Amino acid sequence: MVWPVTSGPDLDRPDEFESIARLFRPLAAGAPEARGLNDDVAVIPGRPGQDLVVTKDAMVEGVHFLPTDPLDLVARKLLRVNLSDLAAKGADPYGYLLSVSWSPRCGWAEREAFAAGLKADQAHYGVKLFGGDTTSTPGPLTCSITAFGWVPHGRAAPRSGARPGDLVLVSGSIGDGHLGLKALRDELRHLEPARVEAVSARYQLPEPRTLLARLMRDYAAATADVSDGLVADLGHIAEASGVGAEFRLEAMPLSGAARAWVEHRVDPLDALIELATGGDDYEIVCATRPDRAELIVKGAERAGLPMTVVGRIVAGQGVRTTYLGETVEVGQGGWRHG
Ligand code: ADP
Ligand code: MG
Repeated sequence: MVWPVTSGPDLDRPDEFESIARLFRPLAAGAPEARGLNDDVAVIPGRPGQDLVVTKDAMVEGVHFLPTDPLDLVARKLLRVNLSDLAAKGADPYGYLLSVSWSPRCGWAEREAFAAGLKADQAHYGVKLFGGDTTSTPGPLTCSITAFGWVPHGRAAPRSGARPGDLVLVSGSIGDGHLGLKALRDELRHLEPARVEAVSARYQLPEPRTLLARLMRDYAAATADVSDGLVADLGHIAEASGVGAEFRLEAMPLSGAARAWVEHRVDPLDALIELATGGDDYEIVCATRPDRAELIVKGAERAGLPMTVVGRIVAGQGVRTTYLGETVEVGQGGWRHG
């Protein structure tokens, strides 16, 4: 249908209807749930035997991204951080709602870049836009996504299922997101340009571990995505489960770039702690019964995403971080006695 735009499209001052019709409606094509973005609501038909898993994350210019960041990357990261939560819970990505408040810097080129970023990732992750809300603001660009995924009924992995004796596993490699942020702030010295580029890309465009979703719902006892830092997110599992965790710093999987960065530092232990407590990895950390750990490791290997045992769940509370057998202090989010 044609939107009732009274004065025709004004390319210098695009209004919300234009944004919806030109940018977002194509992203809803092929999704009957969206009703062509021509209705007051989206409608999601229930699926017998399945649960709809829902998550929401917002990003604010100047807080979560820089005013100079290209908007296609901003949009893709926004979608991806939501898909990361779904993956950790074992849910298969399905669709999303988008809320965006355009700021004065968002002309058509910027808005089109934003939509193009979403389009690219929709195809990659198999999700569609179901609806949303569009406004303008004199303040910073603000956007949020509510993402939906499906799991078999009752099988969404909790944070709260860890028990003493479980093993702790983490996917991929830890620390690149943190190094990427340092790189973008020009705080990464002594690292080859190719490595700087690699970690910057991981910060700007994290890769949600969608391929691990099935393993998480089938075999993990407790899961979280690693967004606040590995120690903190393992801490969330421990707290929700009413248990403690031991984390071996030397077992933490590192990329080539992160390893090179650690080796260049005067105090490598300090560097490892920094990577273990930095954020933005968007890996998955989970606790699993020991007899299921191998199923996860083997399955992850087949998916091309290694999962590494980095510790275990114990009675007590908090995360005790060790390095070659010695307890190390990692600051906030770390070990609490008692
Ligand atoms: P309402 O007045 O009911 O809030 P809107 O004019 O905000 O309706 O939205 C009209 C339609 O456009 C709805 O289907 C809504 O979901 C969709 N829509 C609005 N903004 C967005 C957006 N940013 N992304 C996707 N769909 C959107
Ligand atoms: Mg609205």
